[in-house]
Amino acid sequence: MRVRLSKSFNFEAAHFLPTFPEGHKCRRLHGHSFKFDVIVEGDVDLAKGYLIDYGEIKRAVGPIVVELDHYLLNDIPGLANPTSEVIAVWLWGKLKPLLANLASIVVHETCSSSCEYRG
Ligand SMILES: [Zn+2]
Repeated sequence: MRVRLSKSFNFEAAHFLPTFPEGHKCRRLHGHSFKFDVIVEGDVDLAKGYLIDYGEIKRAVGPIVVELDHYLLNDIPGLANPTSEVIAVWLWGKLKPLLANLASIVVHETCSSSCEYRG
């Protein structure tokens, strides 16, 4: 029985996007209430009836949220150009060693804009 589980996390942060065209609003320093989904996929242990304890995902992601929350993302190593795409890949790199079943990261920069990375 193969399933995909998703757990969502939030952080507030500032960023600016230096690779956008001159005059583009995203080049200016601004902030977002970022949200991201951590999605794991695998076969359910039928005896247990579950794939993974959601708490295990929270334990893996918690320290990473602390690294991001209320910071200027551009100052964080690996996030000098913190587009949603770069953030998704950065999160994958941090989480894949901790969550073997990691299948996807979805970064929501706004309510209507998101980026999915599947490794
Ligand atoms: Zn932005």
